[in-house]
Amino acid sequence: MRADVLALVLVKRRAIRGHEHWSRERIATHQRARLADLMRHVALRSPYYRQLLGGRSRVPLAAIPPLTKATLMSRFDEISTEPLVRLAELERFLAAGGDEALFADRFWVAATSGSSGRRSIIPATLSEWTATIASYARAQEWAGIRARLTGHARMAVVSSTSRSHQSALVGATVKSPFLVAERYDAGAPLADTVTALNQFQPEILVAYASMLRILADEQCAGRLSIRPRAVNGSSEPLTAETRAHVAAAWNVECFDVYAATESSGMAAECSAHRGLHVFEDLVVLEVVDDEYRAVLPGETGTRALVTVLSSRTLPLIRYELTDRIRTLPPAEADAGCTCGRNFRRIAAIEGRTDDVLRMARDDGQPVFVHPVVFHRVLEAAHVAGWQVRQHGAQLELLVARPDTGVDTVKLGAEIAAAVALTGAQRPTVNVVVVDAVPPGAAGKRPRVVADQVQGGPGAA
Ligand SMILES: [Zn+2]
Repeated sequence: MRADVLALVLVKRRAIRGHEHWSRERIATHQRARLADLMRHVALRSPYYRQLLGGRSRVPLAAIPPLTKATLMSRFDEISTEPLVRLAELERFLAAGGDEALFADRFWVAATSGSSGRRSIIPATLSEWTATIASYARAQEWAGIRARLTGHARMAVVSSTSRSHQSALVGATVKSPFLVAERYDAGAPLADTVTALNQFQPEILVAYASMLRILADEQCAGRLSIRPRAVNGSSEPLTAETRAHVAAAWNVECFDVYAATESSGMAAECSAHRGLHVFEDLVVLEVVDDEYRAVLPGETGTRALVTVLSSRTLPLIRYELTDRIRTLPPAEADAGCTCGRNFRRIAAIEGRTDDVLRMARDDGQPVFVHPVVFHRVLEAAHVAGWQVRQHGAQLELLVARPDTGVDTVKLGAEIAAAVALTGAQRPTVNVVVVDAVPPGAAGKRPRVVADQVQGGPGAA
């Protein structure tokens, strides 16, 4: 570990810890000032923004068009403020796989590992990189983990290793002076994950909420034997039921965290567990609908726009995340939090609402099949929509308006093979081409729907 990295992380961590006691006015003043710095920087240094803003830097945030991941990656070189930082060069650097090396001796390079869809690549200077680490350290600290200066804490992240479908993920881990993070695939056979976790003995466990529930049950059944000091949920609604299972398994409270590789830590729960405090000193987070209009308090947005105040090399201004965020009703939002922090709160990241399927092995023992198994296959498919429905040991795959040339029979076979890889009996998959996937309860359209009779994990 580099001494200058560690020293700067400590300085930044201490500085942002001080922000947690700020008044609303102080937070607003800080945000305005940092935003103005960022706008001046991009107006001067980023060809993309110089053109977009017509050379002006005093432009209200709301007047700047949202930046999608597709635009970020297709116009990467124009958005970049460093002539040295070019996408093709970064791709080459990542492909060469120098684990500890810096790009051009100056830049840390983080990437999402999307196997389908384009991955995003985020370069960072020492200042940006240490800000990222400090934001993660804050989330961990709120969950009761103090950074240790001697030795690394072991963190296990059980999520999608493809990451293509979900940007909201605390699994967006970084190599940090404080943490050794191991990543486990939520779609792998459960017995393998349990064995690996028993070996690794994580002190911090981060997982999709649906996986936390399954792992807690494995712990209670005696197959999993780990003693995490902190447990974080991500990407999915963290229900009271899941929290209760986690408490029963490990005697720790579960904390919800919102983060993405592109933006670093954005929000986290405090010990009051009444929503997540937005890291307003580090990001501007807007909860919006499909037309990019701010949603009313108490409503759920269909996407979020994040502006990363410390981003300079690759500025992220109103960067679009496809996460559904539920805001707090006005009465609750105005009441303030018992922890004393004045950072605005959001109620929850709703994320995906897919079911985990309970299926059977050849010997009749149950196997849980996580939704990432289906997302991995179907997200790469050129179809307008899809849904997997369980009928006992069989699956029904609804495919909406496939592009010409899409082989739906082959898609069904790929699904069957992916399920078999989890250890479950190879299912028969009935493929049905539909015009649109029908909405379910509350108008939501879950991609994976479990058999109501057989139930999901933990069902009788
Ligand atoms: Zn609080």
